[in-house]
Amino acid sequence: MILVKSNFFTNNHTSKIICPILLALAALFLSGLAAGSQSTSAFLQSELDPVVEQRIDKMIGSMTLEQKIGQMSLRDWGDFRHKDMDYVAGEIRAGRIGGFLNIPRNSDDPKAFNRIQKIAVDESQNGIPLIFGHDVIHGYKTIFPIPLGQAASWNPATVEQGARIAAKEATSAGIRWTFAPMVDIGRDPRWGRVAETLGEDVFLTSTLGAAMVKGFRGDDLSSLDSLASCAKHFAGYGAAEGGRDYAAANIPMGQLYDHHLPPFKAAIDAGAVSVMTSYSELNGVPGTADHHLMTDILRDQWGFSGFVVSDWNSVMEMVEHGFVSGDRDAAERSTNAGLDFEMHSTALGDNLQELIAEGEVSLTRIDSAVRRLLRVKFAMGLFETPYSEGSEEFLKEEYLQAAKQAAVESFVLLKNKQNILPLNKKQKVAVIGPLAEVPYQQLGTWIYEGESKDSRTLLPALESYLGAKSGNINYAPGLPYSRSKDTAGFKKAIRAAKKSDVIVFFGGEEAVLTGEGHSRGDMSLPGAQQELINELSKLNKPIVLVLLSGRPNTLEGVLDKVDGLIMAWHPGTMAGPALVDVIYGEQSPSGKLPITWPKSSGQLPIFYNHKATGRPPTDENYTRIQDIDPATTWQHAPGNSSNYLDYGHRPEFPFGFGLSYSSFKYSGLKLEQQKLTVGETLRASVQIENTGQKSATEVVQLYVRDLIGNVTRPVKELKAFQRVMLSPGEIKTVEFELDTNSLSFRNQKLENTVELGRFKLWVSRHSQDEENQSWFEIIK
Ligand code: BGC
Repeated sequence: MILVKSNFFTNNHTSKIICPILLALAALFLSGLAAGSQSTSAFLQSELDPVVEQRIDKMIGSMTLEQKIGQMSLRDWGDFRHKDMDYVAGEIRAGRIGGFLNIPRNSDDPKAFNRIQKIAVDESQNGIPLIFGHDVIHGYKTIFPIPLGQAASWNPATVEQGARIAAKEATSAGIRWTFAPMVDIGRDPRWGRVAETLGEDVFLTSTLGAAMVKGFRGDDLSSLDSLASCAKHFAGYGAAEGGRDYAAANIPMGQLYDHHLPPFKAAIDAGAVSVMTSYSELNGVPGTADHHLMTDILRDQWGFSGFVVSDWNSVMEMVEHGFVSGDRDAAERSTNAGLDFEMHSTALGDNLQELIAEGEVSLTRIDSAVRRLLRVKFAMGLFETPYSEGSEEFLKEEYLQAAKQAAVESFVLLKNKQNILPLNKKQKVAVIGPLAEVPYQQLGTWIYEGESKDSRTLLPALESYLGAKSGNINYAPGLPYSRSKDTAGFKKAIRAAKKSDVIVFFGGEEAVLTGEGHSRGDMSLPGAQQELINELSKLNKPIVLVLLSGRPNTLEGVLDKVDGLIMAWHPGTMAGPALVDVIYGEQSPSGKLPITWPKSSGQLPIFYNHKATGRPPTDENYTRIQDIDPATTWQHAPGNSSNYLDYGHRPEFPFGFGLSYSSFKYSGLKLEQQKLTVGETLRASVQIENTGQKSATEVVQLYVRDLIGNVTRPVKELKAFQRVMLSPGEIKTVEFELDTNSLSFRNQKLENTVELGRFKLWVSRHSQDEENQSWFEIIK
């Protein structure tokens, strides 16, 4: 047993996030990436522990080629479902497996992981511990909101805390490595995996992805409650054509560098020890064999010293892509491109010996892969403490309360006509809709261990809040599930509504309509939900629509029928109490959209940081389709600006949008200096006043536009944000610090530059709020 404690991957960043520091850090990692420089992070700067490196040298020197290749094999426990345990034990003993994913938890046998580990540690020739991985995406037993919901909190501390709790639970069961965070940019809500993203923006995703890594990791990667992270999917997976999962991504290199890569860099800088390749191909090359991504960028430019794992079977799927001819070819291309660990399939295990013998793959490449894997195992303390305590600490009260608060912060209030919300306790409320009482659906996609039985649902929470016997709650779902077209329950729902003062309709999508492989072409409310809302609207009673969904749903013909709208995503275990708190105003909603909300699928792609055109649309310069007169209109009469005749140019709700039960006045935007040189820090401040009646949190957002660029610049880019809590009447000065290096982008030669010239700056409520603007100039 090796007793050297590695300090590799030690992260010195304080976990308490103070906003200016966070901003500076964010600027640092964005600029670090942009510069193509070595990382500035503690993770990469930390000297590799020479004692550990020597130990690894020795180990590699004594391993057989078969054992080395064995380390590169990550097997799914399910791969062995038709084999007996003796067979699996034999494979481990022979050193043919480096780790497992998806070992199911068995509550009767909490030490199962340890027994499997013992075979590797005590009975295999080299005694190298296995690494146990799992998809712990938004909680393990205590389920937090789906990542897209967490992103709506715009709160790195909340995201970090959720990940910390997930890590405590998962590690108590024996898992030490998670396939998270997913830091793919999610610009297409048709894509089912948008639910797993942190939204459409590079800065928000980078900030929250880094927070998640820190939370999983905790203070020390080698402690038993630390969960090692894997940033995925490298790279461009979120740009799948048409939102169809696994489809090709075609991303111009400048955009790849500016929008898709920085979140990976941020996750690595925060301490992610591994990176997962993408199923999709990027500009013609499948992620799992992309030398440019895995070697040139990740290792050579960023100095990443962790390992790269394939996605599940993505090595072999390159055959279907038409990129390789078979498993031998797949093994050669992926290994030479920089893959270290093959998930599920066995192309490397089956072919590397021969490929090395024939000189097609070098031994140096294999040794480098094994070194990376061993380094991470050392850093995780697996050599010292390979066994979990098997203590299984789940669903503690403090975890549940944190999950509830995360859910509250994730809710986005999108409409509140005549302040219909919050409701008051005296109102009789009709609870209608297929997603009102849904212990399983409220958990969302990617929950392996989350269970319906642990869910706190709406009705009990409502009953306890209003008083169970008050007779104020009239529950009739109307539809059995979100896709149902069975209208048999409508009558009962209408009766319930008639007896009530206000209707709260819980609609949206079941969890299965988002997630991997679950894209939709039509993002409207499925089933007969719209029909039921139509019927209810005829009663002339106020309707509040609460959406539980993994994506923004298009709301044509629905939005005008409801008075209030809350986007609740899939809120997790504590959905019920969290919803009651917000619906009744115990807490004001503070969530802001992390993704643009389209009016229709036909508007896609639509995202806030798009490029301008030569004919920018305004609300005035286009003719609505219904206004075109068939008799008199000649070809150009409707005007030529960049919009849709039917949908115009605006989304339903812009990125960053979200209402509150209070109101905020922004004033006095001030820039300390308006002319700066590159490397200087821009300081801006603004006064925010709570002009409403309730204590509430506002997310103050800072956007810039680089007015003229060597390649054209987006119309707006989020560069900073802060959450500010204000009591009624309270005024706070919010200060921002922006490193001018974070204004860099790739020019036509793909050089990373901050260009001289003017920038517009907005401090805003959301990405379309133009009220408070100023400018600054970068000078020589
Ligand atoms: C997904 C990954 C996931 C892996 C392991 C794949 O299908 O794309 O995100 O981590 O499975 O479960």
